[in-house]
Amino acid sequence: MTRVLYPGSFDPITKGHMNIVDQAINLFDSVVIAVMHNPAKKENMFTVEERVNLIKELYKDHPNVEVISSMDATVDVAINNNCNAIIRGLRSLTDYDYEVQMNQFNKEISNNRVSTICLFADKEYQFVSSSMVKEIFSLNKDISRYVDESVIKKMQEKKNF
Ligand code: ADP
Repeated sequence: MTRVLYPGSFDPITKGHMNIVDQAINLFDSVVIAVMHNPAKKENMFTVEERVNLIKELYKDHPNVEVISSMDATVDVAINNNCNAIIRGLRSLTDYDYEVQMNQFNKEISNNRVSTICLFADKEYQFVSSSMVKEIFSLNKDISRYVDESVIKKMQEKKNF
C-alpha cells in the first residue's frame, strides 16, 4: 500500500492544488490531504475547519482521499498516518529551494523514513496560488479558472458576512 501525505495551508484549495491531488490519486493507493495549522499565521481567510470541510466536499466521491488537519510537524503527521512520503507541488525556484531544505530536514529527523516527492501542476495551473486567488477576488475579478465553484461560493459568503 502506497500512502502519501499532501500537506499545505489550502487557504483556500485551488485548481493548482487539485491538479496535484489528481496526479497523486493516479500514482498512489491513498492520499491524505493535511490542512496544516500554523498558529503564528493569523491572516487566513478560512478557519482550519472550513478549509477541511471544503476539501472533504470536493473529494467526497474518492474513497482513497482522506482529509485531516494538524498543528504538528509535517514529518510527524506523515509517520502517525502511516505515510512514507510527502507530496509537494513545485511552482518556482523559490518553492524548489524551500523544498530541498525541508526534504533534507524531514529525512534527518525521521531517520530516512519520510521522503518528499515533488509534482508539477499542468501548465494552466502552474502559477496559481491561494494568495493570488484571494487578491484577484478582492478586486471583484472572475476567479473561476483558478478555484472550484464551491470555493467561490464560500468566498462570496465570507465577503458578504
Ligand atoms: P500556497 O498557500 O502557497 O498556495 P499551500 O501551502 O496551500 O501553498 O500549498 C501546499 C502545496 O501545494 C505546496 O507544496 C505548494 O507548492 C503546492 N502548490 C500550491 N499551488 C500549486 C500549483 N499551482 N502548482 C503546483 N503546486 C502547487
